[in-house]
Amino acid sequence: MTTELLAPAGGQEALVAAVQSGADAVYMGFGAFNARRSARNFSDEEFRAAVSYCHLRGVKVYLTLNTLVTDRELPALAEEARVASECGVDAILVQDWGVLAALREIIPDVPLHASTQMSLHTLSGVAEAARLGMTRAVLARELNREEIAEICPVLDVSRQVRYPVLGATWQPRAGIAKHDHVAWGFARALHRMGVDLVQNCQVTGFERVGDAVVGVRTTRGTVRAGKVALAAAGHTSVLADELGLRLPLQSHPLQALVSELLEPVHPTVVMSNAVHVYVSQAHKGELVLGAGIDSYNSYGQRGAFHTIERELTAAVELFPVFSRAHVLRTWAGVVDVTPDASAIMGRTPFANLYVNCGWGTGGFKATPGVGWCYAHTIAHDEPHPLNAPFGLERFTTGALVDEHGAAGVAH
Ligand SMILES: Cc1cc2nc3c(=O)[nH]c(=O)nc-3n(C[C@H](O)[C@H](O)[C@H](O)COP(=O)(O)OP(=O)(O)OC[C@H]3O[C@@H](n4cnc5c(N)ncnc54)[C@H](O)[C@@H]3O)c2cc1C
Repeated sequence: MTTELLAPAGGQEALVAAVQSGADAVYMGFGAFNARRSARNFSDEEFRAAVSYCHLRGVKVYLTLNTLVTDRELPALAEEARVASECGVDAILVQDWGVLAALREIIPDVPLHASTQMSLHTLSGVAEAARLGMTRAVLARELNREEIAEICPVLDVSRQVRYPVLGATWQPRAGIAKHDHVAWGFARALHRMGVDLVQNCQVTGFERVGDAVVGVRTTRGTVRAGKVALAAAGHTSVLADELGLRLPLQSHPLQALVSELLEPVHPTVVMSNAVHVYVSQAHKGELVLGAGIDSYNSYGQRGAFHTIERELTAAVELFPVFSRAHVLRTWAGVVDVTPDASAIMGRTPFANLYVNCGWGTGGFKATPGVGWCYAHTIAHDEPHPLNAPFGLERFTTGALVDEHGAAGVAH
């Protein structure tokens, strides 16, 4: 079995980033029949150029024609499919059975894939898709109560609870990455590259010449620097305050809890927005739990007891079997939350001073991409196109990037 690294490409920048980062294939849309129809999308010409760009680099291109269509829309859709076929697209992702039948007739040589939107979830469903000529099926991730109970028997799916579990979405191939291992991996690589990493050294202020920052004052002396980049998460506003710079950030504790070691009984991460908790079991056996931020602002790294109480109530409601487990450790990190729940990355009103903050509860997974964009911003003294919309200016222009729907417990 070979694994294909397939990346979404919502625009030119994402396409180039996917190809340069080693994707084997990309999926993208143009025209009116994909889920990004009201977002910025590829024009016909751009799509043609994108296919050539990918093929020259050995990367496959899949077109998403994966919305439901009416009879009236079918001719326009057929035209789009013809254009895609002429461009040499490697496969088309479909949802609608009518579209499948139409495409089989119009462009019989182009492979068709069953989109997740087709909701295939049984062997017979996949077999039927194969019989109709589809060469790939992406299984739906929706589960009913019985399926949930089969995968995670310790979860209470009975009707006798405050919020009965009716169904779930599942990402069986998702994984867990360990923050410490990743951070130390980066640190070791930097060390090998000759970067000085000074530990146990607190920045206490800045050296300035007029409106330019030319160094930092630390508990171990002053460091002169041509450029200074802030990346202090919940303490960024404390540092910026040294310069009289007010940032649109609120610092909140975000707690995590760990239990004693238990036998392995819980096979996956379960997260509930209804009762607001996530529960997983580490490989060694501890339960790892967490939820959203403490509601008040604080730099305390313990967090509030009532938050712990609420999280554990939710956890025990979902998993009565864990009611006799003991919590061994609780702690909080101080996360930096912006008004639109999106990060801030870019220049500041001070020359040579850059800022990267506002990642809130979900910045870990963004680390490699963030590092790349921040390095570009610092090196070129202007944002990379990917982080251009995430500058401080948006809080005065009003061009906010609202991510509230994606932030919160669901990181
Ligand atoms: C409990 C918890 C669970 C989380 N779970 C997830 C998750 O599942 N997925 C996810 O994507 N994200 C998660 N996050 C969020 C994620 O950890 C952060 O968004 C991410 O670490 C932010 O990265 P950063 O480099 O901006 O800041 P940090 O990783 O916080 O690093 C900032 C560094 O600056 C240092 N610093 C602060 N002030 C100074 C100073 N004056 N001088 C010198 N150094 C200073 C700090 O010591 C720290 O080392 C979680 C956070 C917490 C607290």
